[in-house]
Amino acid sequence: MRRLVIVVIILAGAAAIYVAARTALIPDRYNPLAPLDLSEPPGAIADWKLWLMADDLPACMAALRRQGVEVKAMPRQIEATGCLREDTVTISRFSAAAIGAEEMRCSVALRLYLLERHVVQPLALRHFGSRVERIDHFGSYSCRNIAGRNRLSEHATANAFDISGFVLAGGRSMSVRRNWNQGGAPSQFLRDVRLGACSLFNLVLSPDYNEAHADHFHVDMGLFRGCN
Ligand SMILES: [Zn+2]
Repeated sequence: MRRLVIVVIILAGAAAIYVAARTALIPDRYNPLAPLDLSEPPGAIADWKLWLMADDLPACMAALRRQGVEVKAMPRQIEATGCLREDTVTISRFSAAAIGAEEMRCSVALRLYLLERHVVQPLALRHFGSRVERIDHFGSYSCRNIAGRNRLSEHATANAFDISGFVLAGGRSMSVRRNWNQGGAPSQFLRDVRLGACSLFNLVLSPDYNEAHADHFHVDMGLFRGCN
């Protein structure tokens, strides 16, 4: 009898949460059933939705388009064994900052959007009183091994992205190579961006990791986790 009561309480609780979620009593940010809203700062529920959407191209593109981002779906392409572009989009702008148009997995584009909007822009305002208008990069897709290793890079599936620098409105620029160890606000800004990226990507590698990353941040959604 006691077990039955517990089951009834659990079912009633689940039903109450479901009804609250469906009838918008719960704000979208906390609502596991609402579509991902990229304007909300990322949190546990957003993490869960991002995970669910990892291979859902239409949902991913819809989430970006709801923010007015132009995304173009790209055809599936296999270049060589292990080098595969699937569920990729081309994107050239996030909330405010532009990038040189680049093809990447949509799930990477989603997380870069969150990084730009909720990490990079607030940090730029705090450190420099200015917005970032361009993010410089070394691209996403590249059919190659990890530098110095005999294993394919996450770049071989466009599941990674290399950020090389930032240009503020007004033209001031910062590069990972020049400013990482220079001290002062640009150096602190870059280090804060890296930390923010670590909460959005599985793996983040910076100049602190090795010489191969002296001039960029590598971010990816591969199996390995780390914040270096
Ligand atoms: Zn990389």
